Amino acid sequence: MVAQNIHYSIATLGSHSALQILKGAKDEGFRTIAICRRGKEKPYQQFKVADEIILVDEYKDVLKLEKELNKKNAILIPHASYIQYVGIENLEKLKVPYFGCKGILLWESDRNKEKIWLTRAGCKLPKVFPRPELIDRPVIVKFHGAGGGKGYFLAKNIQDFKEKIKLHPGKQYVIQEYILGVHMYAHYFNSPLTGETEIMGFDKRYESNVDGIGRISARDQMVLPPEKIDPSYVIVGNIPVVVRESFLPRFIEMGEQVVKESRKIQKKGLYGPFCLECVITPEEEIYVFEISARIVAGTNPYINGSPYTWLRYQEPMSTGRRMAREIKLAIQQKRLQEVLE
Ligand code: AMP
Repeated sequence: MVAQNIHYSIATLGSHSALQILKGAKDEGFRTIAICRRGKEKPYQQFKVADEIILVDEYKDVLKLEKELNKKNAILIPHASYIQYVGIENLEKLKVPYFGCKGILLWESDRNKEKIWLTRAGCKLPKVFPRPELIDRPVIVKFHGAGGGKGYFLAKNIQDFKEKIKLHPGKQYVIQEYILGVHMYAHYFNSPLTGETEIMGFDKRYESNVDGIGRISARDQMVLPPEKIDPSYVIVGNIPVVVRESFLPRFIEMGEQVVKESRKIQKKGLYGPFCLECVITPEEEIYVFEISARIVAGTNPYINGSPYTWLRYQEPMSTGRRMAREIKLAIQQKRLQEVLE
């Protein structure tokens, strides 16, 4: 059976979570291709995860590789960098088999649609303030587009908001209730082949400088210039977390409901890896402030598997490998069309 896999290659952009995607694909018997920006190929050479490296000047050039990738029987695995650099609007243009539901990305990337989806799935969401005048509690102000959490700021009221927004002229933003609690990013994998939504792991993010501010005393914080001390949420790494076991039933239920609702908005629904980005409050409420409908970098600490995948698989099972396993099983069961677009 494994021999069938060698007719296929797993390809991904050399960024984000490509190391575990390619390693996982190799472990499942696939040939692997890393599409790297010139000068960024070193990790994929050094860690020996790529059978082939295709160099491009910019990530968007992947759109020019259609013929070459199809000749190699490649299956593309998307991740956040792929979506960001290629652009949702271009996804349909590249006619190369793709693991994941492209239609769902339109719901995930549009905050209004995302809110409808998650609310219907029974998730508790932070309140969104459509106009600054409506701010009645501490809020986090988030900007759209590349740059992640760069420049996000907290405001305690409308006056504070007006002062701080002056530093970001012309930027599009959303004002969200700030949820005080601990962050918990829940990683899932929904298998169309088994119909099950598996918990793959949890992480918390390491964000600069919000995770650095606590290292200096309040007295020292007071004398620093505001631009140095205002929290920013630029992600620089991920830290593994194991959630309190009594929370697990709720996390499992949340994942299942999100998948169930996704089938009402897109025929195939959400499948493969996804992440619910949550905050847990002292009252033990779980707020979901975002969904990622694809592999998240928070799964990267678990290249050798997480405690949860160890319980289930008793062999190293990263999210990258889990995707390759699903594709392998789909090939064996002649159900490839169910997992590819
Ligand atoms: P996001 O771009 O939505 O993933 O948010 C980036 C970071 O901002 C998160 O990792 C959290 O640390 C923080 N954050 C986002 N939304 C909220 C919220 N509603 N309440 C508290 N913290 C938040």
